Formats: sequence, C-alpha cells, structure tokens
Amino acid sequence: MLLRLRHVTKTYPAATAAVLRGVTLDLDRGEMLALTGESGSGKSTLLHLIGGLDTADSGVVAIGGTDLTPLNDVGRAGLRRGTVGVIFQQFNLIPSLTVAANVAFQARLAGRHDAGRIRMLTDRLGLVDHLHKYPEQLSGGQQQRVAIARTLAPQPDLVLADEPTGNLDEATADTVMTMLQELVGETGAALILVTHSERLASRMLRRLRLHAGRLE
Ligand code: ADP
Ligand code: ADP
Repeated sequence: MLLRLRHVTKTYPAATAAVLRGVTLDLDRGEMLALTGESGSGKSTLLHLIGGLDTADSGVVAIGGTDLTPLNDVGRAGLRRGTVGVIFQQFNLIPSLTVAANVAFQARLAGRHDAGRIRMLTDRLGLVDHLHKYPEQLSGGQQQRVAIARTLAPQPDLVLADEPTGNLDEATADTVMTMLQELVGETGAALILVTHSERLASRMLRRLRLHAGRLE
C-alpha cells in the first residue's frame, strides 16, 4: 500500500474543535482520488499531514510502509523529497528562474535529475518553446503546466494537487487536468486531487468527501 491513514486526528493549538477526528484511507499505486469538502473542512490540513509538513496528534500516516508520525522534521523532509510531489493553486514557481530551471529544480534537490524525463515532460506539456522564458511571461495555464513538469520530474510516487486549476478558466482547466491525469497515470503514481469543482471531481473514479472530521 502506498498511502495508509489510520484513525488520524488533528486539533490545532488553541482551537476549540478537532479538524480531523479519525481519518482512515488506503491508496494504492496508480489510484486517483478526488477529495472534496466544504471550505474549512480540513482538506489542506490532511494534505499537510500526508506531505509531512505537519504531524498528526494520533493515528498512523504511512507512505510506502514508513510511518511519518515518529519522524522528526528532517526525517519527514527526506522522505517527502522525491516521494511526494505537490501542485498548488498558485503555481508557486520561482520567478527568478527560467522555465527550464524551474522544471529541473526539484529533481536536482531530490538527486533525481533525469534529462530524458525532463525532455519528455516539457515536450508533452507543450513547453518546448518556452524553456528560456520566465514565469511572468507565461499565461496561467502555461505556468501550471510548468509546475506539473517540475513536480513530476523527480518521479514521485504520490502527487498531491490542491485546487490545481482553481486559477484557470474552464477550458484551460480541462486541458491541464487531462495532461496531469495522463502523465500521472503513465508513471503509475497515485494522485489526490483536492477540488471544490464537482466537474473536476467527477473525472476521478474514486471520490471522498471530508465532513465533520471524517472521510465519507
Ligand atoms: P480546507 O482546506 O478544507 O479549507 P483547512 O485544513 O485549511 O480546511 O482548515 C480546517 C480548519 O482548521 C479551519 O477551521 C481552519 O481555520 C483551521 N486551521 C487551519 N490551519 C490552522 C492553523 N495553522 N492554526 C489554527 N487553525 C488552523
Ligand atoms: P494557499 O492555500 O494559500 O493557496 P499554496 O497554493 O501556496 O497556498 O499551497 C497550497 C497548500 O499546500 C498550502 O496550504 C501549503 O502549505 C501546502 N503545502 C506546501 N508544501 C506542501 C507539501 N510538501 N506537502 C503538502 N502540502 C504542502
């Protein structure tokens, strides 16, 4: 099992109520899951726990058989690097780097730089003519394609996408999602798509909703 969540709970310090009250989930390699839920239902919190940015109060968060809970920050960062890739609504590209350098950045950090794979990704994502441009010279859809190439370059086992098309118009969103699903599918990685959009969620066979601190 790639991702195992067991009875995960989380309450923020000073908060009056728990955000997560016992979240349990199994996700296999190659699976794609849409995660929905109202604003404030804890979707980002859950992604943070899976991505190793924050720790659960109790329960198990295991990736590839390793429980993240007992690891310290360095241990969790090490496990995440290369294994878990994240795609954000705001693209989060580095403005001072070219498209080519943005795409190569995380793969280099993870010690997984592979020129052939980067060429394949930039080609399939239609970025070949933009490699020497800077993020601000690109449209939103182009910027998100750069972010997808960057995230997939180290060949992560698990991709977390947090409203990845939230800043794009509907037609661009559909094109970008199709590319993301195809590329994730081909590499056998798993995908968790967090979205408010029923239209996007309906593209996934497996859909879960976060409600009252649990998945349903
Ligand atoms: P979603 O992504 O579904 O909108 P979040 O996980 O961002 O939900 O937030 C869940 C709840 O936890 C909200 O009530 C939010 O205000 C609260 N929350 C999120 N992050 C923090 C934090 N760092 N400290 C305190 N409360 C937080
Ligand atoms: P916002 O929620 O303000 O739009 P971003 O688009 O920057 O924020 O990021 C989306 C969410 O993903 C943020 O809450 C961010 O903290 C979170 N995040 C950043 N890095 C990781 C990671 N490695 N794993 C999981 N979540 C992450």
